[in-house]
Amino acid sequence: MMSGNNEEDGLWEKGTFFQSMSSEEAKRKLKTFYKKHDEDMNYSCRKCKRKISAHNRDWHDGMCDNCFGKENH
Ligand SMILES: [Zn+2]
Repeated sequence: MMSGNNEEDGLWEKGTFFQSMSSEEAKRKLKTFYKKHDEDMNYSCRKCKRKISAHNRDWHDGMCDNCFGKENH
């Protein structure tokens, strides 16, 4: 498996992140965690409707990288 080289690594350090999810949701999300940002582009950004990946849907709050960056600035 590829391990991250981006800001999402921080999620693992928090420890309680996955405990706050149901195991079913955690399993579903883990599948997309290891996907690339440009893989499985079957979704659209809830802000600008740009195509986004399954990864972004689950891990970027349903937004493209651009909108997600703005929201979290
Ligand atoms: Zn967007």
